[in-house]
Amino acid sequence: MSGEYDVAVVGGGLLGSAIAWGLGRLGKKVAVLDEGDITKRASRANFALVWVQSKGLGMPAYTVWTVQASQAWSRLASELKQQTGLDVALQQNGGFHLTLGEEEFGQRTELVKRMHNQTGAADYRMEMLSASEVKKSLPLIGPDVSGGSFCPLDGHVNSLRTFRAFHTGFREFGIDYLPERPVSAISKHGGEFSLTTPKGELRAAKIVLAAGNANQTLAPMVGLYAPMGPTRGQIVVTERTMPFLPHPLTTIRQTDEGTVMIGDSKEDELDDRTLKHSISAVMTDRAQRMFPHLSRLNVVRSWAGIRVMPQDGFPIYDQSETHPGAFVACCHSGVTLASNHAFEIARMVAQGALEPELVGAFSASRFGGAGAANKSGY
Ligand SMILES: Cc1cc2nc3c(=O)[nH]c(=O)nc-3n(C[C@H](O)[C@H](O)[C@H](O)COP(=O)(O)OP(=O)(O)OC[C@H]3O[C@@H](n4cnc5c(N)ncnc54)[C@H](O)[C@@H]3O)c2cc1C
Repeated sequence: MSGEYDVAVVGGGLLGSAIAWGLGRLGKKVAVLDEGDITKRASRANFALVWVQSKGLGMPAYTVWTVQASQAWSRLASELKQQTGLDVALQQNGGFHLTLGEEEFGQRTELVKRMHNQTGAADYRMEMLSASEVKKSLPLIGPDVSGGSFCPLDGHVNSLRTFRAFHTGFREFGIDYLPERPVSAISKHGGEFSLTTPKGELRAAKIVLAAGNANQTLAPMVGLYAPMGPTRGQIVVTERTMPFLPHPLTTIRQTDEGTVMIGDSKEDELDDRTLKHSISAVMTDRAQRMFPHLSRLNVVRSWAGIRVMPQDGFPIYDQSETHPGAFVACCHSGVTLASNHAFEIARMVAQGALEPELVGAFSASRFGGAGAANKSGY
Protein backbone atom coordinates (compact mmCIF):
# COMPACT_ATOMS: atom_id res chain seq x y z
CA MET A 1 0.00 0.00 0.00
CA SER A 2 1.38 3.42 -0.83
CA GLY A 3 0.10 6.91 -1.38
CA GLU A 4 0.37 10.21 0.40
CA TYR A 5 -2.48 11.75 2.25
CA ASP A 6 -3.09 15.03 4.01
CA VAL A 7 -4.65 13.10 6.88
CA ALA A 8 -4.88 9.41 7.80
CA VAL A 9 -7.73 8.68 10.20
CA VAL A 10 -7.19 5.50 12.21
CA GLY A 11 -10.59 3.94 12.97
CA GLY A 12 -13.66 3.97 10.77
CA GLY A 13 -16.34 4.03 13.49
CA LEU A 14 -18.73 6.90 13.93
CA LEU A 15 -16.10 9.19 15.37
CA GLY A 16 -13.40 8.55 12.75
CA SER A 17 -16.01 8.67 9.99
CA ALA A 18 -17.41 12.01 11.14
CA ILE A 19 -13.94 13.57 11.32
CA ALA A 20 -12.86 12.06 7.98
CA TRP A 21 -16.09 13.24 6.31
CA GLY A 22 -15.54 16.73 7.76
CA LEU A 23 -11.97 16.77 6.45
CA GLY A 24 -13.11 15.60 3.00
CA ARG A 25 -15.72 18.36 3.04
CA LEU A 26 -12.85 20.82 3.49
CA GLY A 27 -11.08 19.41 0.44
CA LYS A 28 -8.44 17.36 2.27
CA LYS A 29 -7.07 14.12 0.85
CA VAL A 30 -8.03 11.56 3.47
CA ALA A 31 -7.56 7.84 4.12
CA VAL A 32 -9.52 5.95 6.78
CA LEU A 33 -7.81 2.81 8.07
CA ASP A 34 -10.11 0.38 9.82
CA GLU A 35 -9.88 -3.00 11.46
CA GLY A 36 -11.78 -6.11 10.39
CA ASP A 37 -15.47 -6.88 10.73
CA ILE A 38 -15.25 -8.94 13.89
CA THR A 39 -13.90 -6.17 16.10
CA LYS A 40 -15.92 -4.64 18.91
CA ARG A 41 -17.44 -1.49 17.46
CA ALA A 42 -19.57 0.84 19.54
CA SER A 43 -20.86 2.55 16.40
CA ARG A 44 -22.84 -0.49 15.30
CA ALA A 45 -24.36 -1.15 18.70
CA ASN A 46 -25.56 2.13 20.14
CA PHE A 47 -28.90 3.50 21.29
CA ALA A 48 -28.79 6.53 18.93
CA LEU A 49 -29.74 9.35 21.28
CA VAL A 50 -28.64 12.90 20.51
CA TRP A 51 -28.66 13.65 24.20
CA VAL A 52 -28.01 16.75 26.25
CA GLN A 53 -29.71 16.40 29.65
CA SER A 54 -27.48 15.40 32.54
CA LYS A 55 -24.33 15.79 30.44
CA GLY A 56 -21.38 17.51 32.04
CA LEU A 57 -21.84 17.18 35.78
CA GLY A 58 -18.32 17.86 37.06
CA MET A 59 -17.18 19.39 33.76
CA PRO A 60 -19.26 22.39 32.62
CA ALA A 61 -17.27 22.58 29.34
CA TYR A 62 -18.84 19.24 28.38
CA THR A 63 -22.31 20.72 28.77
CA VAL A 64 -21.34 23.60 26.49
CA TRP A 65 -19.81 21.18 23.92
CA THR A 66 -22.89 18.94 23.98
CA VAL A 67 -25.34 21.80 23.60
CA GLN A 68 -23.31 23.04 20.63
CA ALA A 69 -23.42 19.55 19.09
CA SER A 70 -27.17 19.29 19.57
CA GLN A 71 -27.66 22.66 17.89
CA ALA A 72 -25.43 21.72 14.92
CA TRP A 73 -27.09 18.36 14.30
CA SER A 74 -29.81 19.62 11.95
CA ARG A 75 -27.12 21.18 9.73
CA LEU A 76 -25.29 17.85 9.65
CA ALA A 77 -28.47 15.91 8.85
CA SER A 78 -29.36 18.28 6.05
CA GLU A 79 -25.84 18.30 4.52
CA LEU A 80 -25.79 14.47 4.59
CA LYS A 81 -29.24 14.33 2.97
CA GLN A 82 -28.22 16.78 0.28
CA GLN A 83 -25.03 14.90 -0.46
CA THR A 84 -26.20 11.27 -0.21
CA GLY A 85 -30.01 11.35 -0.41
CA LEU A 86 -30.11 9.49 2.94
CA ASP A 87 -32.53 10.76 5.56
CA VAL A 88 -30.96 10.07 8.96
CA ALA A 89 -34.35 10.56 10.68
CA LEU A 90 -33.22 13.22 13.12
CA GLN A 91 -35.94 14.14 15.62
CA GLN A 92 -35.15 16.86 18.15
CA ASN A 93 -38.28 17.97 19.95
CA GLY A 94 -37.02 17.20 23.45
CA GLY A 95 -36.49 14.06 25.49
CA PHE A 96 -37.59 12.65 28.84
CA HIS A 97 -35.93 10.73 31.62
CA LEU A 98 -38.83 9.04 33.42
CA THR A 99 -38.74 8.00 37.06
CA LEU A 100 -40.52 5.11 38.76
CA GLY A 101 -41.57 5.75 42.36
CA GLU A 102 -40.89 8.67 44.68
CA GLU A 103 -37.29 7.79 45.53
CA GLU A 104 -36.19 7.94 41.89
CA PHE A 105 -38.12 11.18 41.43
CA GLY A 106 -36.28 12.69 44.42
CA GLN A 107 -32.88 11.56 43.10
CA ARG A 108 -33.57 13.02 39.67
CA THR A 109 -34.76 16.32 41.18
CA GLU A 110 -31.49 16.50 43.10
CA LEU A 111 -29.48 15.87 39.90
CA VAL A 112 -31.36 18.60 38.01
CA LYS A 113 -30.60 21.04 40.85
CA ARG A 114 -26.91 20.15 40.82
CA MET A 115 -26.76 20.59 37.04
CA HIS A 116 -28.37 24.02 37.25
CA ASN A 117 -26.05 25.10 40.04
CA GLN A 118 -22.94 24.36 37.99
CA THR A 119 -21.26 27.60 37.04
CA GLY A 120 -20.00 27.91 33.50
CA ALA A 121 -22.37 25.30 32.05
CA ALA A 122 -24.64 26.16 29.12
CA ASP A 123 -28.31 26.63 29.98
CA TYR A 124 -30.12 23.66 28.56
CA ARG A 125 -33.46 24.19 30.31
CA MET A 126 -33.66 20.72 31.88
CA GLU A 127 -36.69 20.71 34.18
CA MET A 128 -38.58 18.31 36.42
CA LEU A 129 -42.17 17.47 35.54
CA SER A 130 -44.83 15.74 37.63
CA ALA A 131 -46.48 12.54 36.36
CA SER A 132 -49.57 14.48 35.27
CA GLU A 133 -47.42 16.97 33.36
CA VAL A 134 -45.53 14.10 31.67
CA LYS A 135 -48.86 12.50 30.75
CA LYS A 136 -49.78 15.51 28.61
CA SER A 137 -46.89 14.67 26.26
CA LEU A 138 -46.81 10.88 26.80
CA PRO A 139 -50.44 9.81 27.39
CA LEU A 140 -49.67 6.06 27.53
CA ILE A 141 -47.46 6.15 30.67
CA GLY A 142 -48.39 3.70 33.42
CA PRO A 143 -49.37 4.42 37.06
CA ASP A 144 -45.87 3.63 38.38
CA VAL A 145 -44.37 6.67 36.61
CA SER A 146 -43.74 9.32 39.26
CA GLY A 147 -42.65 12.04 36.81
CA GLY A 148 -39.36 12.81 35.18
CA SER A 149 -37.05 15.37 33.70
CA PHE A 150 -37.42 16.97 30.28
CA CYS A 151 -34.88 18.78 28.13
CA PRO A 152 -36.01 20.50 24.92
CA LEU A 153 -32.61 20.01 23.25
CA ASP A 154 -32.71 16.21 23.39
CA GLY A 155 -33.46 14.05 20.39
CA HIS A 156 -32.53 10.92 18.49
CA VAL A 157 -31.52 9.79 15.05
CA ASN A 158 -31.09 6.66 12.96
CA SER A 159 -27.44 6.14 13.85
CA LEU A 160 -26.77 3.27 11.45
CA ARG A 161 -28.12 5.36 8.58
CA THR A 162 -25.93 8.26 9.76
CA PHE A 163 -22.96 5.93 9.68
CA ARG A 164 -23.89 4.79 6.19
CA ALA A 165 -24.37 8.40 5.07
CA PHE A 166 -20.84 9.31 6.19
CA HIS A 167 -19.43 6.34 4.29
CA THR A 168 -21.52 7.15 1.22
CA GLY A 169 -20.25 10.71 1.45
CA PHE A 170 -16.66 9.43 1.48
CA ARG A 171 -17.01 8.49 -2.18
CA GLU A 172 -18.01 11.98 -3.30
CA PHE A 173 -15.18 13.55 -1.30
CA GLY A 174 -12.64 11.07 -2.71
CA ILE A 175 -11.87 9.65 0.75
CA ASP A 176 -10.20 6.22 0.66
CA TYR A 177 -11.84 3.83 3.15
CA LEU A 178 -9.35 1.00 3.77
CA PRO A 179 -10.82 -1.92 5.77
CA GLU A 180 -8.73 -4.82 7.12
CA ARG A 181 -5.90 -2.37 7.93
CA PRO A 182 -5.35 -2.56 11.68
CA VAL A 183 -2.53 -0.13 12.43
CA SER A 184 0.15 -1.84 14.52
CA ALA A 185 2.90 0.81 14.58
CA ILE A 186 3.27 4.53 13.89
CA SER A 187 6.45 6.49 13.26
CA LYS A 188 7.33 9.96 12.04
CA HIS A 189 10.19 10.76 9.65
CA GLY A 190 10.90 14.04 7.90
CA GLY A 191 7.60 15.59 8.91
CA GLU A 192 5.52 12.65 7.66
CA PHE A 193 3.77 9.86 9.55
CA SER A 194 4.14 6.26 8.50
CA LEU A 195 1.48 3.77 9.58
CA THR A 196 2.17 0.03 9.59
CA THR A 197 -0.65 -2.30 8.53
CA PRO A 198 -0.76 -5.96 7.36
CA LYS A 199 -1.24 -4.62 3.82
CA GLY A 200 1.77 -2.32 3.87
CA GLU A 201 2.76 1.18 4.98
CA LEU A 202 0.67 4.28 4.51
CA ARG A 203 2.07 7.81 4.70
CA ALA A 204 0.28 10.98 5.73
CA ALA A 205 1.14 14.50 6.84
CA LYS A 206 -1.23 14.27 9.80
CA ILE A 207 -2.96 11.48 11.65
CA VAL A 208 -6.10 11.31 13.77
CA LEU A 209 -6.35 8.39 16.18
CA ALA A 210 -10.07 7.58 16.34
CA ALA A 211 -9.81 3.87 17.05
CA GLY A 212 -12.21 3.79 20.00
CA ASN A 213 -10.89 1.76 22.92
CA ALA A 214 -7.77 0.87 20.89
CA ASN A 215 -6.65 4.50 21.26
CA GLN A 216 -5.36 3.39 24.60
CA THR A 217 -2.55 1.44 22.93
CA LEU A 218 -2.10 3.59 19.80
CA ALA A 219 -1.85 6.99 21.51
CA PRO A 220 1.44 6.31 23.37
CA MET A 221 3.11 5.51 20.00
CA VAL A 222 2.99 9.25 19.25
CA GLY A 223 3.38 10.71 22.73
CA LEU A 224 -0.36 10.90 23.47
CA TYR A 225 -2.43 9.50 26.32
CA ALA A 226 -5.97 8.06 26.22
CA PRO A 227 -6.94 6.32 29.46
CA MET A 228 -10.12 4.31 28.97
CA GLY A 229 -12.40 2.15 31.07
CA PRO A 230 -14.89 0.66 28.60
CA THR A 231 -18.33 -0.53 29.73
CA ARG A 232 -20.88 -2.81 28.14
CA GLY A 233 -24.50 -2.01 27.27
CA GLN A 234 -27.39 -4.25 26.22
CA ILE A 235 -30.27 -3.32 23.94
CA VAL A 236 -33.61 -5.02 23.30
CA VAL A 237 -35.69 -4.29 20.18
CA THR A 238 -39.40 -5.05 19.79
CA GLU A 239 -41.48 -5.68 16.70
CA ARG A 240 -42.93 -2.61 14.95
CA THR A 241 -45.90 -0.96 16.58
CA MET A 242 -48.13 2.10 16.14
CA PRO A 243 -46.47 5.46 16.77
CA PHE A 244 -46.89 6.11 20.52
CA LEU A 245 -43.70 7.81 21.66
CA PRO A 246 -43.32 11.32 20.24
CA HIS A 247 -40.21 11.98 22.39
CA PRO A 248 -37.25 9.70 23.11
CA LEU A 249 -36.48 8.63 26.69
CA THR A 250 -33.06 7.87 28.15
CA THR A 251 -34.06 4.21 28.16
CA ILE A 252 -36.77 3.81 25.51
CA ARG A 253 -37.19 5.22 22.03
CA GLN A 254 -39.38 4.44 19.06
CA THR A 255 -37.37 4.32 15.87
CA ASP A 256 -38.47 5.92 12.60
CA GLU A 257 -39.30 2.38 11.46
CA GLY A 258 -41.75 1.77 14.34
CA THR A 259 -39.71 -0.65 16.47
CA VAL A 260 -39.15 0.15 20.13
CA MET A 261 -35.58 0.13 21.46
CA ILE A 262 -35.03 -0.48 25.16
CA GLY A 263 -31.55 0.10 26.52
CA ASP A 264 -29.14 1.84 28.84
CA SER A 265 -27.62 -0.96 30.90
CA LYS A 266 -24.06 -0.31 32.10
CA GLU A 267 -22.00 -3.40 32.86
CA ASP A 268 -18.38 -4.02 33.70
CA GLU A 269 -18.11 -7.11 31.52
CA LEU A 270 -16.44 -6.67 28.12
CA ASP A 271 -17.92 -9.58 26.18
CA ASP A 272 -20.13 -8.23 23.39
CA ARG A 273 -21.34 -11.65 22.17
CA THR A 274 -23.08 -13.15 25.22
CA LEU A 275 -26.35 -11.60 26.38
CA LYS A 276 -27.31 -11.57 30.03
CA HIS A 277 -31.02 -12.30 30.20
CA SER A 278 -31.23 -11.09 33.78
CA ILE A 279 -30.26 -7.62 32.51
CA SER A 280 -32.71 -7.70 29.58
CA ALA A 281 -35.41 -8.74 32.08
CA VAL A 282 -34.79 -5.69 34.31
CA MET A 283 -34.74 -3.34 31.32
CA THR A 284 -37.93 -4.70 29.78
CA ASP A 285 -39.69 -4.82 33.15
CA ARG A 286 -38.96 -1.13 33.72
CA ALA A 287 -40.04 -0.33 30.15
CA GLN A 288 -43.38 -2.11 30.70
CA ARG A 289 -43.96 -0.22 33.94
CA MET A 290 -43.38 3.01 32.04
CA PHE A 291 -45.62 1.97 29.12
CA PRO A 292 -47.81 -1.03 30.09
CA HIS A 293 -48.95 -1.65 26.49
CA LEU A 294 -45.37 -2.72 25.60
CA SER A 295 -46.06 -6.07 27.30
CA ARG A 296 -48.07 -7.05 24.22
CA LEU A 297 -45.08 -6.71 21.88
CA ASN A 298 -42.63 -9.43 20.87
CA VAL A 299 -38.89 -8.92 21.16
CA VAL A 300 -37.28 -9.39 17.75
CA ARG A 301 -33.63 -8.62 18.45
CA SER A 302 -31.21 -8.05 21.25
CA TRP A 303 -27.49 -7.28 21.39
CA ALA A 304 -24.66 -6.09 23.59
CA GLY A 305 -22.07 -3.46 22.69
CA ILE A 306 -18.91 -2.13 24.26
CA ARG A 307 -18.89 1.59 24.92
CA VAL A 308 -15.85 3.74 24.22
CA MET A 309 -15.45 5.24 27.67
CA PRO A 310 -12.65 7.60 28.66
CA GLN A 311 -11.81 7.02 32.29
CA ASP A 312 -13.77 9.99 33.63
CA GLY A 313 -16.56 9.71 31.04
CA PHE A 314 -15.69 12.94 29.21
CA PRO A 315 -14.17 13.24 25.71
CA ILE A 316 -10.45 13.30 25.02
CA TYR A 317 -9.11 15.51 22.21
CA ASP A 318 -5.40 16.27 22.07
CA GLN A 319 -2.56 17.04 19.72
CA SER A 320 0.82 15.48 20.46
CA GLU A 321 3.59 17.78 21.64
CA THR A 322 6.31 15.29 20.72
CA HIS A 323 4.72 14.38 17.34
CA PRO A 324 2.95 17.53 16.08
CA GLY A 325 0.26 16.64 13.56
CA ALA A 326 -0.84 13.57 15.53
CA PHE A 327 -4.26 14.00 17.10
CA VAL A 328 -6.28 11.70 19.34
CA ALA A 329 -10.08 11.79 19.62
CA CYS A 330 -12.26 9.52 21.70
CA CYS A 331 -15.48 9.92 23.56
CA HIS A 332 -18.49 8.10 24.80
CA SER A 333 -21.29 9.99 23.05
CA GLY A 334 -20.19 9.63 19.45
CA VAL A 335 -23.73 9.93 18.10
CA THR A 336 -24.54 13.12 20.01
CA LEU A 337 -21.18 14.69 19.21
CA ALA A 338 -21.03 13.62 15.52
CA SER A 339 -21.87 17.16 14.37
CA ASN A 340 -19.03 18.66 16.41
CA HIS A 341 -16.63 16.04 15.09
CA ALA A 342 -17.67 16.64 11.47
CA PHE A 343 -17.57 20.43 11.66
CA GLU A 344 -15.37 21.56 14.57
CA ILE A 345 -12.79 18.82 15.16
CA ALA A 346 -12.28 18.34 11.40
CA ARG A 347 -11.78 22.11 10.97
CA MET A 348 -9.23 22.23 13.80
CA VAL A 349 -7.31 19.20 12.49
CA ALA A 350 -7.25 20.79 9.02
CA GLN A 351 -5.85 24.03 10.44
CA GLY A 352 -3.32 22.08 12.51
CA ALA A 353 -4.30 23.23 16.00
CA LEU A 354 -7.01 22.44 18.52
CA GLU A 355 -8.68 25.58 19.85
CA PRO A 356 -8.27 25.74 23.65
CA GLU A 357 -11.40 27.84 24.14
CA LEU A 358 -13.52 25.09 22.49
CA VAL A 359 -11.78 21.85 23.47
CA GLY A 360 -8.98 22.75 25.89
CA ALA A 361 -10.89 21.20 28.81
CA PHE A 362 -10.81 17.83 27.05
CA SER A 363 -7.04 17.39 27.01
CA ALA A 364 -5.91 14.14 28.65
CA SER A 365 -3.55 16.27 30.75
CA ARG A 366 -6.54 16.54 33.13
CA PHE A 367 -5.93 12.98 34.28
CA GLY A 368 -2.52 13.76 35.65
CA GLY A 369 -1.74 10.06 35.40
CA ALA A 370 -4.79 8.51 37.07
CA GLY A 371 -8.33 9.54 36.15
CA ALA A 372 -11.07 9.24 38.70
CA ALA A 373 -14.20 7.34 37.71
CA ASN A 374 -17.17 9.56 36.98
CA LYS A 375 -20.48 9.37 35.21
CA SER A 376 -21.29 11.46 32.16
CA GLY A 377 -24.35 9.48 31.03
CA TYR A 378 -26.26 10.03 27.83
C1 LIG B 1 -24.94 0.07 24.01
C2 LIG B 1 -24.45 1.43 23.61
C3 LIG B 1 -25.32 2.49 23.63
C4 LIG B 1 -24.88 3.75 23.23
N1 LIG B 1 -25.78 4.77 23.14
C5 LIG B 1 -25.39 5.99 22.71
C6 LIG B 1 -26.33 7.04 22.54
O1 LIG B 1 -27.53 6.87 22.75
N2 LIG B 1 -25.87 8.25 22.13
C7 LIG B 1 -24.54 8.48 21.89
O2 LIG B 1 -24.19 9.60 21.54
N3 LIG B 1 -23.64 7.50 22.00
C8 LIG B 1 -24.04 6.27 22.39
N4 LIG B 1 -23.14 5.24 22.48
C9 LIG B 1 -21.72 5.54 22.22
C10 LIG B 1 -21.39 5.63 20.76
O3 LIG B 1 -21.86 4.52 20.06
C11 LIG B 1 -19.87 5.73 20.67
O4 LIG B 1 -19.45 6.90 21.33
C12 LIG B 1 -19.37 5.85 19.28
O5 LIG B 1 -19.91 4.86 18.47
C13 LIG B 1 -17.88 5.73 19.33
O6 LIG B 1 -17.42 5.63 18.03
P1 LIG B 1 -15.92 5.33 17.76
O7 LIG B 1 -15.73 5.52 16.32
O8 LIG B 1 -15.07 6.09 18.71
O9 LIG B 1 -15.73 3.80 18.21
P2 LIG B 1 -15.98 2.43 17.44
O10 LIG B 1 -17.31 2.36 16.83
O11 LIG B 1 -15.64 1.36 18.43
O12 LIG B 1 -14.95 2.46 16.27
C14 LIG B 1 -13.57 2.30 16.44
C15 LIG B 1 -13.04 1.74 15.15
O13 LIG B 1 -11.63 1.67 15.23
C16 LIG B 1 -11.22 0.47 14.61
N5 LIG B 1 -9.91 0.11 15.14
C17 LIG B 1 -9.56 -0.35 16.36
N6 LIG B 1 -8.24 -0.55 16.43
C18 LIG B 1 -7.72 -0.20 15.24
C19 LIG B 1 -6.41 -0.17 14.72
N7 LIG B 1 -5.34 -0.56 15.43
N8 LIG B 1 -6.24 0.23 13.45
C20 LIG B 1 -7.30 0.61 12.67
N9 LIG B 1 -8.58 0.62 13.14
C21 LIG B 1 -8.77 0.22 14.41
C22 LIG B 1 -12.31 -0.53 14.98
O14 LIG B 1 -12.35 -1.61 14.10
C23 LIG B 1 -13.55 0.33 14.86
O15 LIG B 1 -14.13 0.30 13.58
C24 LIG B 1 -23.53 3.96 22.85
C25 LIG B 1 -22.65 2.87 22.82
C26 LIG B 1 -23.11 1.61 23.18
C27 LIG B 1 -22.17 0.46 23.10
